[in-house]
Amino acid sequence: KAEYAFIGRSNVGKSSLINMLTNHKGLAKISTKPGKTQLVNHFLINDEWYLVDLPGYGFAKVAKNTKQRFSKLIFSFIESRPNLINLFVLVDCRHEPQAKDVDFMEWLGVNGIPFSIIFTKADKLGKQKLSENIKAYKTELLNTWEEMPPYFISSASSGLGKDEILNSIDETNKTVLLQKR
Ligand code: GDP
Repeated sequence: KAEYAFIGRSNVGKSSLINMLTNHKGLAKISTKPGKTQLVNHFLINDEWYLVDLPGYGFAKVAKNTKQRFSKLIFSFIESRPNLINLFVLVDCRHEPQAKDVDFMEWLGVNGIPFSIIFTKADKLGKQKLSENIKAYKTELLNTWEEMPPYFISSASSGLGKDEILNSIDETNKTVLLQKR
C-alpha cells in the first residue's frame, strides 16, 4: 500500500496534525516535550494508505550523536521505501525559513523524493504575516528550485487544511493505482 509520510522539526505540530487528519484523538500522542516521537509509526487509513509518522529532526536539546542517529534513521528509511509516494514536510508558519528545513528539502530534491510543504499553526498568524512568511519560503526555495513544491496551510485547532490534504492524498493515490495496473 502507498505510504505518505509526515516529518518536521519537533514541536512543529505534527502530532496535532496527524490527529486532525485521522480524526482519532489519541492515535498519535500530542506532546509538548520536543523529541518524544522517536520511532517510525504507521497508521493504516481507510484500508487504503499508510500515514507514516517520522521522528522529528533538528532537536535543540539532545546530544549530537543522538541527532546523527535520527538523521541516519530518517534518511535510510526514506531511501528504502518503494511505496513512499510523498513526504509532507511540516514547517511552523510563524518562523522565517530555517536552514535545517531548507537543507532537508534540498536533500529530498537531490535524491528525487517527492515532497510537499505544510505550513502549520496558521491560526497563530494574521493573513498578512502568514502570506509574508510563505513568500519568504518561496524566495528561499526558488534560489535552488525552479518552482515551489506544492504546499498546504493547516491549523489543527481550526481544522484548516484537513480536507485539502486528504483530498490531495486521495487524488495521488488514484493516480498511483492507475499506474500500477
Ligand atoms: P509535535 O512535537 O510536532 O508532534 O507537535 P505537537 O502536535 O505536540 O504540538 C506542539 C505544540 O503546538 C502543542 O502545544 C500544540 O498544542 C501546539 N499546536 C499544534 N498545532 C497547533 C495549531 O494548529 N494551532 C495552535 N494554535 N497550536 C498548535
